[in-house]
Amino acid sequence: MEKTLILLKPDCVQKNLVGTVIARFEEAGFAIRANKMIQLTDDLLREHYAHIAEFPFYPDVESFMKETPVVALVLEADGIIDTMREMLGVTDCLEAAEGTIRAEFGSKEEGKNKMCNIAHASDGVDAAAVEIARFFSEDEIFNY
Ligand code: ADP
Repeated sequence: MEKTLILLKPDCVQKNLVGTVIARFEEAGFAIRANKMIQLTDDLLREHYAHIAEFPFYPDVESFMKETPVVALVLEADGIIDTMREMLGVTDCLEAAEGTIRAEFGSKEEGKNKMCNIAHASDGVDAAAVEIARFFSEDEIFNY
């Protein structure tokens, strides 16, 4: 079994899509192992998004990710990391394949289409372990 870290981003929260997106995850058979709402900070974002922190668009991402709290989840299923990245679609909502969460719910507005893309999901097993530990303590994860 594999775990992944999901962040439902401020655009998901603002569009009242938290329940809709979580329902997709449940319909896919993913088990919810942890779930909480968090207000992200600059420090946490710099750690989480270290790989993009030097790009010119980073300050916009930092502001966007603090617009509202995010909903963080740990989900578990066989092969969930790849399945989830496929379900989400690529970063740019205009390029995301039909039927993906980012294509369906993400921003189609020029300038926001690459940033306001509804959800973050871990991109590998090692990244997932680091990201889960970043957002959740051991006693917040329920391996029932
Ligand atoms: P992903 O979330 O698809 O794995 P990245 O890790 O490359 O994508 O980027 C992290 C986040 O930064 C993206 O989800 C998106 O919100 C934002 N982002 C990435 N590239 C751009 C860009 N060119 N312009 C604006 N925001 C971006």
